[in-house]
Amino acid sequence: MFLLFGFGTKRRHIGMGATRTCPRCHNTTQWARTKQFKQFTVFFVPLARWKREQFEQCGICGTAVQG
Ligand SMILES: [Zn+2]
Repeated sequence: MFLLFGFGTKRRHIGMGATRTCPRCHNTTQWARTKQFKQFTVFFVPLARWKREQFEQCGICGTAVQG
């Protein structure tokens, strides 16, 4: 039997985050909120998701902080 499965990390943009001063590029901008999780799929159907995390990411240099 042929079984098509995979592991992957998904990132989804969930909106605008807080206005922060970036520790790397020192610009003060509104950061983007991103949700990330790992998932296991069989025939492209997600069966399990774990390690959910939320990030806020600087729109200029891409630095991400958990929060
Ligand atoms: Zn930055």
